[in-house]
Order: sequence, then structure tokens, then C-alpha cells
Amino acid sequence: MDVITMPSTYSLLNRLRRDFPGFRFEKSTGFWWSAAGQTIHIDPLADNCDVFTLHELSHAILGHRGYEYDIDLVKLERDAWEYARNILGSEYDVTINEQIIQDNLDTYREWLHARSTCPDCEATGLQTKQQTYRCLACGHLWRVNEARLCALRRYSLQTK
Ligand SMILES: [Zn+2]
Ligand SMILES: [Zn+2]
Repeated sequence: MDVITMPSTYSLLNRLRRDFPGFRFEKSTGFWWSAAGQTIHIDPLADNCDVFTLHELSHAILGHRGYEYDIDLVKLERDAWEYARNILGSEYDVTINEQIIQDNLDTYREWLHARSTCPDCEATGLQTKQQTYRCLACGHLWRVNEARLCALRRYSLQTK
């Protein structure tokens, strides 16, 4: 049986560029949406490139610009996945399976858990400001770094 290999990502990209002239699509070493530059960064060599491209486009269409509290980032990610799967996936004929979504959201859930765990007593802290948490059990305060949309790597716990 003859199999015709389509450079699917490139044809998808061409369609997206045509359909969304207000956004820029730029090849990068990862996937993220930059609201400031109205730019969708995509990594053409990555696994499931089409899936993640539609996910980033969803952030763009939904007008995601940033977040104040970490928990909000998890919600933005979930919203972008829902839009990608329910709207863009069928529109562009890209299957987005639930496992990819859950694996990706797990990254954010683990990130949130790691950031909100007190380094002193391991109780859960409350985020009081954009980059500050306070432990509900022992009162310890700690700072966290800013994270941009969709640029999370697997978070490793800092050693004390
Ligand atoms: Zn504590
Ligand atoms: Zn995202």
C-alpha cells in the first residue's frame, strides 16, 4: 500500500496563517503564546506539533494575557485545551486525545503543588501576592518565580 506522507504541520500552519492574519506564527524551540507580540511560538520538530499549535492558538483566540495567581494559570490552560479540542480540533481535523491533555495539565498541577508547599513544614500555603506564598500552618513566607503561559518544564523541587 502506498502511503503518501504529508508535511501536515506545514499545511496546517499555512491554513492557520491564512485564517488568522492577526496573529504571527513563529518557529521556536518550544510552544508558547506571547500576548505582547500577538505571536504563537511553535516547535515544528516536537511530537504532536499540530496538537500543541492548536492549543497555543486557543490561548490567542481566547485573549489570554497573563494571570495573577498561580491557580488562574491552571484554569487558563484547561480553558485553552477545551477550546482546542472542542472547536479547533474538528475545524482543522486534528485529533486531540485526552491523554495528551491530562499529561499536560498534570505538569501544571505538579508545578502548582510544588510552589504552594511550605519549604519548612510541607503544609499548603496561600498565595498572597503574585510571587509570594504564606504557610497557613507555620506562617513561613516564600517567594516563587514568574512562569509564562505554556513555558513550563517539569518542575523539580528545590533542595532545602
Ligand atoms: Zn509551614
Ligand atoms: Zn497553554
